[in-house]
Amino acid sequence: MKELKITPIKDGTVIDHITAGSALKVLRILGITGEEGYTVSVAMNVTSKKESLKDVVKIEGRELKPEEINKISLIAPRATINIIRDYNVVKKYRVQIPDVLEGIAKCENPNCISNQREPIQPVLKVISRNPLRIKCVYCGRVQSQVEKNLI
Ligand SMILES: [Zn+2]
Repeated sequence: MKELKITPIKDGTVIDHITAGSALKVLRILGITGEEGYTVSVAMNVTSKKESLKDVVKIEGRELKPEEINKISLIAPRATINIIRDYNVVKKYRVQIPDVLEGIAKCENPNCISNQREPIQPVLKVISRNPLRIKCVYCGRVQSQVEKNLI
């Protein structure tokens, strides 16, 4: 795809440097379906100076909080967040892997209590960031795959 012009937004959040092809997963993790009424623009596989390709998501009229966004670090570790007010970037930060993942990913142990019929929210603790190692607080299983277990 040739360079795509990303038009500026007046107020809201721009999530930039998303791993190419992951924008829809990012929206899913953020719980944004389009039914909320916000204007959401998704640009996938656009050229970037730093990386070869990236995705960009713009959400108009809504400033996402760091704790809402940090969970996307699991699938888009290099994503940057720009908070826009009146066409200016007022805050810019990188996503960070949170200490605890609550209700974000399922435990990979099928016998874990969090995977049984009981309505228990899965809670996974991050024990190492590089490499990423995550442990279930219920059964103690260290997860080998997080991305495919995202809720
Ligand atoms: Zn478990």
